[in-house]
Amino acid sequence: YIDTAINKSDNALLESIKKVSANTSGYIFVINTEGKILLNQARPELVGSNMSQSDDVIIKDTIEKIKKNLEYENEAFISYKWKNPISKKLETKHSYITKIPNSNWIIGSGFYDSSVKKITDIEIKKLYDEYNLKLNYIIIMGLMAILISLIISYFISKFIKNRFLNYKNKITSKTQELEELNKNLEKKVKLRTSELEKNRKSLEILATTDALTKIHNRYSIMQILIKEIDRANRYDLPLCVLMYDIDHFKTVNDNYGHDEGDKVLVNITKIVKKTLRDIDVFGRYGGEEFIVILPNTSLKDAQNLSQRIRKCVDNNHFDMIGNITISLGLVQHEKHEKHHDMFKRLDNLLYKSKTNGRNLLSS
Ligand code: GH3
Ligand code: MG
Ligand code: MG
Repeated sequence: YIDTAINKSDNALLESIKKVSANTSGYIFVINTEGKILLNQARPELVGSNMSQSDDVIIKDTIEKIKKNLEYENEAFISYKWKNPISKKLETKHSYITKIPNSNWIIGSGFYDSSVKKITDIEIKKLYDEYNLKLNYIIIMGLMAILISLIISYFISKFIKNRFLNYKNKITSKTQELEELNKNLEKKVKLRTSELEKNRKSLEILATTDALTKIHNRYSIMQILIKEIDRANRYDLPLCVLMYDIDHFKTVNDNYGHDEGDKVLVNITKIVKKTLRDIDVFGRYGGEEFIVILPNTSLKDAQNLSQRIRKCVDNNHFDMIGNITISLGLVQHEKHEKHHDMFKRLDNLLYKSKTNGRNLLSS
């Protein structure tokens, strides 16, 4: 009765273990300490056989190993060779074994190297797939980022280009405007400059010309004389100065009026001008007194010219008035002589002509 009860409870226990084994990924085997296989779902043909009495050396060795490992310990991890029911090959297997307390049962569960490799391969493949997926994702994201940045940069560059062209056009039109303004300004400046130059010249003429006779005025003729004296001194050139005064001019004014007097002044000026050379400088010294500067001229040539002037005036018939004469004084500039000293001599000579009877040249 007890044996039957033990048997029944053993079987019930094995059935329970079977169920546990079916619900887990691995499988569970049960053997007793004599080596009898009580449960082996992977290889059910071995159930009931005794491993210690097996003809298979491998099976025998395995039970020996199990026994040896559990001799002093209640549990152990062991590695051994075992036939893989799937590959039907002898493979290395690693199992955890433990003694069930208060019985002679040993329960264990293990796995093959190949199944680990398979799992590892699956995991590697999974990781590899994941890696590829992520890589693709990164590449796509990168490409998209490049594409987006290209599109953005295209629009930005287009915007900048438009702005730039806008500014360029503005600058070009402004430059043209400026150039136009500049041209106008240049024209205006030229016009103004020429106007100013004209004004300056006419002012200069006004300032240096005698209003009535249109020859040099006193200021101008004196400036020229100072320069000519300077030139004569520097280059050791002969220089003569002639001064003449109209005789009894007061009578002309008194008898024929001031306007007629003016006409006489103008006419005598014209007559004298005709006799002069290009190099001679003619000026009104004041009233009815005139000066002729004769540069680079010897006293003899100057005397000849002066006599010619005197005769020309003397020979001229003045309307209404008739004959008019002039008295002349002529000097040759002496080296380093100051102009006022020269004028004193000139004055004396003119006075001499007057006192000697007029219509005369003293030199
Ligand atoms: P002399 O022969 O001594 O020189 O006698 P003169 O009458 O010429 O002597 P004086 O120098 O005293 O007289 C000069 C006159 O010239 C006086 C003045 O009225 C006149 N006169 C001076 N300037 C002008 C002028 O611009 N126009 C006119 N019409 N007469 C002038
Ligand atoms: Mg006089
Ligand atoms: Mg006079």
